Amino acid sequence: MSFSGISLSERMVSALSKLGYHNPSPVQQNVIPKALRGVSLLAQSETGSGKTHSYLIPIIEKVDMNLSRPQAIVIAPTRELARQTYEFAREFQRFYPKFRVRLYTSEADVTQNEQGASIAPQLIIGTPGRVKAMLIDKELFVLNNVKMVILDEADMLLDLGYFEDIETLFGHLNNPQTMVFSATLKQNLRDELLKFVRSDFQFESDKIQTASTVKHHLINIKHIGEANALIQFLKLKNPYLCIVFCSTKDKVAEIHQALLDNNIDNLYFSGSLDERSRKRALREIKANTHQVIVASDLLARGMDIEDVTDVVSVDLPNDLEFYHHRAGRTGRFGKSGDSWVFYNNDTEAKPRELYENGVKFEFLSLRAGKLVDDPVGLAPKTKLRKKAEFSEQEAKEIKIAKAMSRKKHVEPMHKKKTQFAIEKVKRKYKRKAIQRSIRKELETQAKAKRKAYNDED
Ligand code: AMP
Repeated sequence: MSFSGISLSERMVSALSKLGYHNPSPVQQNVIPKALRGVSLLAQSETGSGKTHSYLIPIIEKVDMNLSRPQAIVIAPTRELARQTYEFAREFQRFYPKFRVRLYTSEADVTQNEQGASIAPQLIIGTPGRVKAMLIDKELFVLNNVKMVILDEADMLLDLGYFEDIETLFGHLNNPQTMVFSATLKQNLRDELLKFVRSDFQFESDKIQTASTVKHHLINIKHIGEANALIQFLKLKNPYLCIVFCSTKDKVAEIHQALLDNNIDNLYFSGSLDERSRKRALREIKANTHQVIVASDLLARGMDIEDVTDVVSVDLPNDLEFYHHRAGRTGRFGKSGDSWVFYNNDTEAKPRELYENGVKFEFLSLRAGKLVDDPVGLAPKTKLRKKAEFSEQEAKEIKIAKAMSRKKHVEPMHKKKTQFAIEKVKRKYKRKAIQRSIRKELETQAKAKRKAYNDED
């Protein structure tokens, strides 16, 4: 389907084609027609799905270019995201010379000078605190004409505690059309939204997923350490553009330094950078000057970095939803990408949770500097945990082991001995389960190979 198929003006279709956009993405196909009809909605937006344009296009179609008053407001949780949206909006000014956009974030005074503060913009983009300060506290503009409000990355706006400012803002508006974009559709987000959105608000309910072009790999790094494993991995894969995610600022610093010590150039990005360094880092990221970026989850949300081929999680975040944001930095707009997760036996709980929630990992292990298939992966332990997999025989043997030890309870160390006897039985069954799983995995692989062979025939 082309853009002209979703009832856009000829002027918009031509502008989009000059910007290099020819066909609407699925989220755009879904959202743009509704937005043009004035529908208020919450849309779950896959990372890299083209969601920014799914609201910018209708905004530009709907605002009155001859009216110099704010008519639409976009709220984003971070200044980087707000600026990114602002840059996308400004691209349209070539085709709509009367279209004015203003950015309100803690770093935005520059843009006020750029544009001349005297003429009111049709579109205001910013972070919640700043937008509220400018529009409500300073009363910079008349707000009667605001007919659309966009909450971008709404789950993050909520998590960061911005909903109070947003509610205050809505209190000064006249029931605007509200479009909410969020990576997740948590119940508390719905509850909070209902406090101020219009009563005809529509909740969409697709399941969260990262772009389907991303392949997920789980690498057992055993006990060689995350930094070491990363160095081996980078030498092996030599990725075109790789983001390495760490769950804490300290780890970002540690990994960054370990790579430098091994002569691997890399860019450091985390919340501990001051404002200027953060801006410089973002410029360097956009200019593609580094092959490796070591970052905290700050970079995982919404930032549009082109051509990321690989994402490595040296560890996983506490909130596992962030894994999807991380993986979503690659595989954007139909390109393929790989997400690699490091783990070992001590840290397997989180990847297991992802796996059990449907992330289709390929299991690998890092052995002597090489990545090899790991037929065991997480499977056997998943099975061991399941009650049904404890055979009656095993239960019986554990009982016997306990009984035998009980007889000798007068002996010193009898508790330890009992425990030892039980562990021995458990180890025996664990071995058996692993062997079963390997056998099953090999059978599946053989079957798949046979099938591929037959299909080729
Ligand atoms: P977003 O999901 O808004 O972060 O968008 C991700 C990227 O997709 C941005 O680099 C946009 O320039 C690009 N994009 C948006 N819409 C389209 C489209 N219809 N065709 C191709 N690229 C697009």
